[in-house]
Amino acid sequence: MTLSRRSIATLPLLASLAVARFSTTARAQGAAPSVRPVNTPGEGAVNTWLLIGSDGVTIVDCQRTVPEGEMVVAAVRALNRRVEAIVLTHEHPDHAAGLQVISRAFAGVPIMASAETARALEASKPAMLPLMQRIFGPAAPTDFPAPTRIVRDGETVTLGGRSWRIDEHGPGEAQSMTTLYAADAGLLLASDLVGNRVTPYLLEGLTGQWLEQLERVRARYPSGTVALPGHGTPAAFGLLAAEQVDYLSAFRGMVRERLRDGAWSEAARARVVAEAEETWPGWPTVVPIPTLLAQNADAVARELGR
Ligand SMILES: [Zn+2]
Repeated sequence: MTLSRRSIATLPLLASLAVARFSTTARAQGAAPSVRPVNTPGEGAVNTWLLIGSDGVTIVDCQRTVPEGEMVVAAVRALNRRVEAIVLTHEHPDHAAGLQVISRAFAGVPIMASAETARALEASKPAMLPLMQRIFGPAAPTDFPAPTRIVRDGETVTLGGRSWRIDEHGPGEAQSMTTLYAADAGLLLASDLVGNRVTPYLLEGLTGQWLEQLERVRARYPSGTVALPGHGTPAAFGLLAAEQVDYLSAFRGMVRERLRDGAWSEAARARVVAEAEETWPGWPTVVPIPTLLAQNADAVARELGR
């Protein structure tokens, strides 16, 4: 399927509509909980998910920059509800860098994350904070505040008027990945366990572990589960998981093919980039790096060459 530029631009709107349908159903049944995305459309778009109950709201992931964090703060303030918690699903800056401005705006609100995410976030500071300052200038945060409430695999938390199971998936797209599952609503806050037709970030060099992770989780959520991804619009989890497996397997295949031809080279990289652009035309990138595909190819070549 080919997505035109225009249809990519309308994806966030479609996401809002899809989620608005959940909200309408919930209201019609007299229950208040709803889920709503906050994002800035375009390349590198990332979803913050607001879990909205009758008297409280939880913020899942925090955007990439100070202005985007402020956008989340404004969206939350407009709801006129107590802020219950801020949740970080993993350590990557597109989900964590807005935490500083959001946690300052809602001081004292628990910052939830797994122990693995807390560790990886702290460990990323020396390289990531200066890099972000160089790229974003004053729009970059000066620190990544530490999570204050460590969540564990299998723990149940009540957020936004719903009960969610915390699932910790370990390394894959990031050093760790936490998802939240509401069995009664059939909703999975999937974060970057799966994306929806986006060019993924593979620079961790963990595509093999990501595939193993996807193999483990495919049976874990019943069919009919709707995934609310970190990038792209909501869709059936089974479909997004299958597409993510296809993408990673195919991309690894493209790199492996070139490695078989000889040593990794600029020509090999260019060939993989061209093949990927042809296979997944117009898929927006999850980070605003124009050379993401080339960097992904290098990272996967290193991973496969090990
Ligand atoms: Zn992401």
